[in-house]
Parts: sequence; structure tokens; C-alpha cells
Amino acid sequence: MLAPGSSVILLDRSRWKTGHECPRKRFYEYNLGGRGIRPRAQSLPLATGSAIHAPLAEILQTLIKGDIKIDRAFIRQVIASHVATYRASTLASGFSDEPGMEGSAEVKYVVDEQATLIEGMVWAFYQEFLPWLQKEFEVLAAEQEVLYVIGCTCGLGDGVGAPEDHGRRTLIGPGVHNGKLEYVEPCKGVALMLRPDFIAKRRSDGALGVWDFKTTSYGLDQTEYEHSVQMALGCLAAEKLFNEPCGHYYLVGFRKGKREGAWSAETKSKSGLKKQSSPLCYGYYKAPSPPVQKEAWAPDYQRGSAWAKVPIWEAYFADRPAEMSRVEFWIQNHLGEKLKEQMEILGPCQRPEHLLGEFLSQLVYGEEEWAERVRVVAEDPGQLHAVIPQSWDCHQFGRACEFLAICRKYPGLETPEAALTSDAYEAREPNHQAEKEALNG
Ligand code: SF4
Ligand SMILES: [Zn+2]
Repeated sequence: MLAPGSSVILLDRSRWKTGHECPRKRFYEYNLGGRGIRPRAQSLPLATGSAIHAPLAEILQTLIKGDIKIDRAFIRQVIASHVATYRASTLASGFSDEPGMEGSAEVKYVVDEQATLIEGMVWAFYQEFLPWLQKEFEVLAAEQEVLYVIGCTCGLGDGVGAPEDHGRRTLIGPGVHNGKLEYVEPCKGVALMLRPDFIAKRRSDGALGVWDFKTTSYGLDQTEYEHSVQMALGCLAAEKLFNEPCGHYYLVGFRKGKREGAWSAETKSKSGLKKQSSPLCYGYYKAPSPPVQKEAWAPDYQRGSAWAKVPIWEAYFADRPAEMSRVEFWIQNHLGEKLKEQMEILGPCQRPEHLLGEFLSQLVYGEEEWAERVRVVAEDPGQLHAVIPQSWDCHQFGRACEFLAICRKYPGLETPEAALTSDAYEAREPNHQAEKEALNG
């Protein structure tokens, strides 16, 4: 897909990654029917991953504007609106992981649990991370989209100007036509659609850095993220936005624990409804034994039959003020030091300058080649199998690929084109503004 008013190709990190996992998956998701398709039923954990980015972006954007005080009342409002959006979208679409369970007690339970997790992560961010961030850094931008052209062939240069500045021309050279610059061919560059979670300036030395949020089961894997060329793309975005060098990046990890079934001593395996193993969602409660013992709460597992595991969204706290939700009250009054363990920061990591040039040239070459493959299939759909292969690696991390029904030719989906009119799939909603404009005009 070309950038609006330009000849340069639009690319983002997700489609590049998807193409490396399975070229056919990229084709279905981003090219089939002109804009790609997605399953109508969403995957629950994915919904939670994206659901945490939206409230954090709103908080940081408000912080940058500086017109509203970031206090508990504001955070409550942000949580209420984003959790309502999450609930509505999840319950409306159903779960691809638990088909046929829409509207059931199990699904209601999982949505309550995940909404609690989202709320808990926002409170962890507000209480544990934000005060430190504001003290050490000045936040300059949050979720701001930047188009960064690489592989420029028109002479304007990489990272210079907007895609439409590149789109019209290739420089022949001065002096060719009466000393004037003359342009005849469109630029063959690639416009990277970049949107770092946020960009901030370190107060101690004024250095610019980019930050990304990640939700993880157990924690951030340092070996995965140090020397990350993908994170370095965010640095390019920061440089273009603020016209200053940006040489480092950070990751903010939210530990949400695993989601798994209960252990059965009989079958020696975990089964049943999967639950999130997080102290943001569950606490341990011991009933009072008057007049000697008061009730007790703990964030960790406690031995003994007197203790019971309680979902926080159902917990009764006698002294909870009316304005506080159960989750807010639990986190503020009972989680203590445990709250710190729910977040971690990795960085500052140095941008891997020695790898970046090769990575960018591979991106440009790969995109030219991909555009050619898509053009061949558009002219002759019979070429699909020849030019866009299937990986057949369809169950990564124990989860079925969302296009399995097409590749396995389930009834009604015997051809990829059938998916365009099937109830199981719908047109993909573009995730970036430039692509929205290119598709919707
Ligand atoms: S089902 Fe398998 S082959 Fe088909 S798109 Fe998904 S990963 Fe690729
Ligand atoms: Zn150019």
C-alpha cells in the first residue's frame, strides 16, 4: 500500500514481523481484498494487551498537555472509560479461544478478571511508575505517529520530509535542464509508520529516549530486547519529531502472570477454566474469629484451610470508601511491596547503530519484493501458492493461527476469496493514521 499522495510504500513493524512468521498470514491480514481481513471473534489475551496501551496513552497525553491534574479522580475516570470499552468490545465479539461461550458465566468471569487486570495495571502505573517518571524525565510525546522514509531514491534523503515530498520525483541532477533541478521518476522508498509508546527527555542530561510498554507472563527477557533493531526504529521516530539525536530506549514491563487452569492431583495436570495468576486479580482471605482474630488479607498464597483465594472484583472490604473501586482499595491498602513486583524497567539500552543500517536496507529490499509478489497475485490469483508460501507452522505458543480455517479449507472457506464474504471474517481496521487515509481517502 502506498502512502497518500506518494509513491513510497507504507510499512509497520507488525506486518514485517508477520511476514517473517508466515508470508501467507501477512497476505491474509494485510492484503487480501485490498486491505486485509481479521477474524470477527477476538483473542482474549490480545484484547487485554492492547487494552492497557490506550489508558496509559491517555494519561501521558494529558500529562503533556498539562491542563488537567493527574490525580486519583482523573485516573478513576480514565479506567472507567477504557474498561467499559474493553468490556463492550470483548463481549460483543466473543472469544476465538472459547468459541460458543459468548454470554456464558465463564466468559463473564474471564471478562471481569481481565477488566480487573487492566485496572490493576493502570493503578500500578500511576502509583509505582508515574511519580518516578515525572521526577526523572519530561514526557514529550505519547503514541504520536511518525512517518519516516528509508531507501529514498529521489535524492531528498532518508528521514527527510513527509512521504508526499518524496512521492513525485527522482532527481536527475542540477544543470541538466537549463541549470534547474528536474525530477522524472517516483521515489521508491519505504515510509515506516512508527508510533513509540512515549518519548521523554532525561532531566539530568537532556538526552532523548523512547519507551515501549510490554505485558509479560514472567518478566522482560533482557536478551530479547538489548540491541533491538526494532526498538531502534522508535529512536528514529523521536529524532524526526524533535530534530535531536536519540540514542537509547527503555521497556516498561507489566507482569501479569500466566493464565492457566487449576492443578488436579488426580490427573496430574492443569485443566478447567484458565485464570490469571496475578495478585492484581486475586487475594487470599482469612475470616475473622471474634473476639480474638480480625479478618486478614494477603497478596500471596497462604497455607492452611482458613485461607481462601478470592477474586478481587468480588471481594468485600468493609472499610472501602464509596469512591474507590475494589481494585483500587485492594492495591492501595493490601498489596504493599508486592505492587512493585508487578512492573519492571529495562534500560537505558543503547540503540544498536552497528546493526541499524543493515536492518533498514533489508526492510527496503524486502518491501520491494513483497510489493511485486502482491502485484503478481492481484493480476493472477492462481499464482498465490507459487509466490506467497504458507509456513504451515500454525500453532505457535499453543494458539491456533487466526487464518487456520482458510488454510485448512473449512466448509465455506475453500478459497481465500470466500473469506471476504464469510461471517467468520471482516475487513481489517487499519491501525495507523496514514494507512487509514490511504484506504479510506
Ligand atoms: S494457518 Fe498456518 S499457513 Fe495459514 S496463514 Fe496461518 S500460519 Fe500461515
Ligand atoms: Zn525519496
